[in-house]
Amino acid sequence: KPVCLIVLGMAGSGKTTFVQRLTAFLHTKKSPPYVINLDPAVHEVPFPANIDIRDTVNYKEVMKQYPFLVSSGDTTEPYSLILTRMSLWKKFLLNNVGIIMWNPSTYRYVLIDTPGQIEVFTWSASGTIITEALASSFPCVVVYVMDTSRSVNPVTFMSNMLYACSILYKTKLPFIVVMNKTDIIDHSFAVEWMQDFEAFQDSLNQETSYVSNLTRSMSLVLDEFYSNLRVVGVSAVTGSGLDEMFVQVSEAAKEYETEYRPEYERLH
Ligand code: GDP
Ligand code: MG
Repeated sequence: KPVCLIVLGMAGSGKTTFVQRLTAFLHTKKSPPYVINLDPAVHEVPFPANIDIRDTVNYKEVMKQYPFLVSSGDTTEPYSLILTRMSLWKKFLLNNVGIIMWNPSTYRYVLIDTPGQIEVFTWSASGTIITEALASSFPCVVVYVMDTSRSVNPVTFMSNMLYACSILYKTKLPFIVVMNKTDIIDHSFAVEWMQDFEAFQDSLNQETSYVSNLTRSMSLVLDEFYSNLRVVGVSAVTGSGLDEMFVQVSEAAKEYETEYRPEYERLH
């Protein structure tokens, strides 16, 4: 069965570039992936997508019908409207899950790019339905992409990790943190913070006492999260780190079979 990689992360973390790079990488490995774009607002999809949500959801048309959403300036509103109201969206994906299932030998990987605003997918009914539809059909792995170059501040880093943690609990799927943009800065500082509590505490010394006290307490909680976490540094631009990432992906897929699938079958 193909392994399904659900790519999540903050806007600008590099999800689309990463999916593009993975697609090219898998083509060179003679294992072209099945690629799905679930971002209705993207102007251009830089990879050949087998399914594109924009074929089903006309973002511009929705904006025309609900102009008040445009003026509100809140871009998450129109997305959630699209995602919660358009049952087509769910149907079209479920149909396509069928297509992939009928051709299990054709694809080893399914790659899913998600909307720029992460909460649109992780906290919408449709996002949940889609995740569950996929996870009950394939081994699914959440790939959480983060912008390493924008996480050099310890408080920002920790906020990002708390977000990752909440997604882990929301999706209940095997999880890989991809520290992206290592061409700008090596991710070793972040790995050190995760492995060495003292190093992280030291880096907090410049913060105000309120922030650093809170962060100190939180990082104790995160320690538990870190201890079972798969982390890999990559650059979506240069392609470095991808071999290591696929090693992690196959371990995560095994973990899905042994630990997550039985749980999924019990719950759904
Ligand atoms: P998305 O919103 O998560 O889909 O992010 P995009 O893929 O659109 O990327 C956001 C910006 O980060 C773009 O300007 C990319 O060129 C840039 N970017 C993405 N990955 C990398 C990377 O590995 N290295 C560098 N230097 N820039 C990157
Ligand atoms: Mg994108």
